[in-house]
Order: sequence, then C-alpha cells, then structure tokens
Amino acid sequence: MIYDLIRDEIKGFKNYEVPTIECMYKMDANETPFGLPEATMNNLQEIVKSANVNRYPDPVSLKLRDKLAEYCGTTRENIFVGNGSDEIIHILMNAFVSKNDCVVYPVPSFSMYKVYSQIAGAKNVEVALKDDYSYNVDEIINTINIFNPKMVILCNPNNPTGTTLDRDDIVKILKVNDGITVVDEAYYEFYGDTVVDLIGKFERLIVLRTLSKAYGLAGLRVGYAVSNSDVISCLNMVKSPYNVNSISQAIALSVLEEGRVDEKVDYIKNERKFLQDGLKEIGNLKVYDSKANFLLIEFDDAYYVYNKLLEKGVLVRNFLGDKILSNALRVTIGTREANSYFLKCLKEILV
Ligand code: PMP
Repeated sequence: MIYDLIRDEIKGFKNYEVPTIECMYKMDANETPFGLPEATMNNLQEIVKSANVNRYPDPVSLKLRDKLAEYCGTTRENIFVGNGSDEIIHILMNAFVSKNDCVVYPVPSFSMYKVYSQIAGAKNVEVALKDDYSYNVDEIINTINIFNPKMVILCNPNNPTGTTLDRDDIVKILKVNDGITVVDEAYYEFYGDTVVDLIGKFERLIVLRTLSKAYGLAGLRVGYAVSNSDVISCLNMVKSPYNVNSISQAIALSVLEEGRVDEKVDYIKNERKFLQDGLKEIGNLKVYDSKANFLLIEFDDAYYVYNKLLEKGVLVRNFLGDKILSNALRVTIGTREANSYFLKCLKEILV
C-alpha cells in the first residue's frame, strides 16, 4: 500500500477541507466582503502587463517588500513575503524546527500551527486558553520553563476566539523564551495593536501578517513576516524559488498603493457591534468578545444551528469533532445585509 511509504509524522493526516457549498452569504472563512479598490480594478490590464507573466516572478518580491516595509515602519530587510501566511508558517518550521523539537501554541487556535509542526516531527505542547478563552500567560511561561521550546506561537487576536494578548504579556513571554516567538497578527488591522516595533529589541521575534483579511486579497495568497534581517535570511534559505506569483505581487502592490483600509475596517468593526447587539437581543447565547472580523458563538446544539443556517443560505464555520469547540460556530462579519439576514435566520432557528 502506498500509505505504508508515507512519513510516520503524517500517517493518519486528513486533507485540509473547506466546504464548497453554494450559499447566499459566505460567512465562514474570515474573508472581507469587499472587492478590489476601484482604481486597481480600472487598472487591471496595466497591472497584468507589468507582471510580465512570460518571465518568472521576482523571487524576493522586492517592490512589494518595500511597500510592506513602509506600511510596517521597517525596512525591506525586515520583510519576507510568502504564498499566504500559511506558507510562512510552513517555512518557519522548515527553517527552525527539527524532529522532536518542542513547539508550543495555544488551543483552541488556528489549526495550521499543529499541522505544520506535526509535519516537522516536532513535539507539540498545547497550552489551553482559560474558560473565557483569554490567554493563560502564566501557564505559557511555565510551559516554556519546563520544555525550553524551539518555537512558541501566539495568535493575536486569536482565531477562532477573537480574544487578545496584551503587549506586556507578549514581552513577558519574549523575555523567558530562548527559542523563536511567532506572533501571528493575521487580524491586526481589526485590533490595532501590534508588536512589530519590538523586532529590533527581541531578535527571535517574528510577526506574521497577511493581506488575506483586512486587505481582502485571500484569493491572491499574500502573507508576510516581519523580523530582523538574520531571521529573514534564514527563511530565504528554505523557501521555494518563486513562491509568490507575479500577478499577486503586482495586484498586492497596487492595492497597498491605494492606501490604508481604515474605512473598510471601521465598517467591519461597526458591523461587529451590530451583530453583537443583535445576538444579545436574541438572548441566552454565549458570544465571546472579539477584536477580529468574526465572532465565536456557543449554542446548545451547534451542528443543528449550522445545518439550519445552511438551509437558509448562510455558511458559517463549524468545529464538529473538536474537543473544545464542538458546540460553537464562528461567523465572519459581513455586510449589513448579510449580518441582518444572519440574525433574522438565527431568531427563526432558535424560537
Ligand atoms: N493565521 C491565522 C490566525 C489565520 O486565521 C489565517 C487564515 N485563516 C492564516 C494565518 C492564514 O492566512 P493566509 O494564508 O491567507 O495568509
């Protein structure tokens, strides 16, 4: 059997599957509901022409890194661009984590930390969030002291709970961790707080960001890491030669040149409040306070609610089979129309 030949570390793995269900409102993947900026749309032909697709892309995304450096207040030497931040998590493991090294990350959190660390053959040490899904900083520090991990991953705000970690607590962790500390800031724009400015002070700090969320470019696959230039050199040693395609580089550059996405972020934050208020009105639901573009909601029977929502044309994220989250659903904040419809459906389902 071919499966006998597969590496031990990945025996029994399941494919990363996402539902490909036709629905009226797609509120499952923390994407934004907005399309490309108008100026980028109007200029698409020029952008594609400039991408010179008969040539290989710029292997080190120079222009895009300059623009991202400007956005982050750093220099291009501090920026690494990947095929989504997913790819960068994989590259980080390839660069720093050997078989049996220890990797610490929170649970529940973004599922790919575990997947990539298992592929690397690392020992995963999962630190549970508290009952209210806030970070258990003392437990993280204890774990670091006991296991001396090669890598600690923190997700801030955390997906799928939306909860956050204070800067002071991140600093406490940075001070005790001799290994790499990754702070995944995929939802940074919705939160507003960052530790990017600490990369000069803590040489083993790596901040992960993405253009998939607030910047609305999930389909283009552009993520980036911000760290000191030595760390960036290590990532360049193990990346594939042309990991970010030229159309993605060119469109991402154009979108960043159009300026910040503050208005869109404000819209989503306002809609987050609208949904939170609407859910409160429905009553009897546990809704976690979120600083990202999604809300985690607990139900008596989440799977029933999930299926009923789907029947009505709304796709949300379920956690069927998850030890901690099986009775929770995560809904991505959408347009007012989508959010109102979601609330209306939920009221009908729960009466
Ligand atoms: N980190 C977190 C916390 C995420 O939620 C996601 C997307 N769901 C990613 C990383 C990956 O984002 P991308 O690969 O689209 O950049």
